[in-house]
Amino acid sequence: MQIMQHLSSHIHYLTPYQETDRPILAAVTGTKSTLLIDAGNSSAHIQYFIDQLVKLDISPRCLVLTHWHWDHVFGMNQANTTIIAQTMTTEAIKQMQQWSWSDEALDQRVEDGSEIAFCADAIKKEHVETRDILLPTPDITFERKLEIDLGRVHCIIEHVGGDHSADSTIVYVKEDKMLFLGDCIYPNIHVTPNEYTAEGALQLVQALRQYDVDTALRSHHTETWDGEQFRHQLDILETVALLVRDEDNDEVFIRQQLQSKLERELNEEELEIIEQFINGRNRQQHNG
Ligand SMILES: [Zn+2]
Repeated sequence: MQIMQHLSSHIHYLTPYQETDRPILAAVTGTKSTLLIDAGNSSAHIQYFIDQLVKLDISPRCLVLTHWHWDHVFGMNQANTTIIAQTMTTEAIKQMQQWSWSDEALDQRVEDGSEIAFCADAIKKEHVETRDILLPTPDITFERKLEIDLGRVHCIIEHVGGDHSADSTIVYVKEDKMLFLGDCIYPNIHVTPNEYTAEGALQLVQALRQYDVDTALRSHHTETWDGEQFRHQLDILETVALLVRDEDNDEVFIRQQLQSKLERELNEEELEIIEQFINGRNRQQHNG
């Protein structure tokens, strides 16, 4: 069950839905216009959000994609707005326009390794009957950064990259100090096992630290982070990334180091992060 949340006087968002991998959809509203964040994983998904907004008398003017992954773009056509995307996101969408989304095509791509079973299964669950997925080419493509004045509310859209997807883009709402992270802070799930790399994480942490954040949202998490939790998370990623760069530091040593830095036992999530950094290092060593 997805719920509309009112985060501030300018921001509404629809909570994520695990079952079919629906991410957060958000609307940032100023006195002049409304910016949507992400197009969702189907026409039904974005339409549900727009219906809720109409009830609140909000009509979207433009939409920004946080990255090219299917669950963030499949509702593009139904959104019926000006679409903004980073250069690599637009390139990826142009490629996806050529792809078929039938069960056979999905199974084939899982088999040849160009798609992961997790996404193929979620696509089949979200798009049970018709799968006429229309992906229009984004209207506005930017390389690094865009600022949008919505009328007394200003959004910064910036390409930050990271391991999850090289095109990852964040949206920062200045007046609310609110940061929409998309999926940028998640690991790369398109490799098995999932991984973080030291370079990817360090570059991402540096890009994200520029922002003065009171609230941060990840696209597939219901709970938000306050500023302190957000900065703490960046510190953890940075600490592990720096430790994993030294090849002499094994997993046990890195755990001990993080544990003594935090002055407590590590939780499941932190143990997983360390493991994913080790995966990244192992794969890089393997690839020479
Ligand atoms: Zn993603």
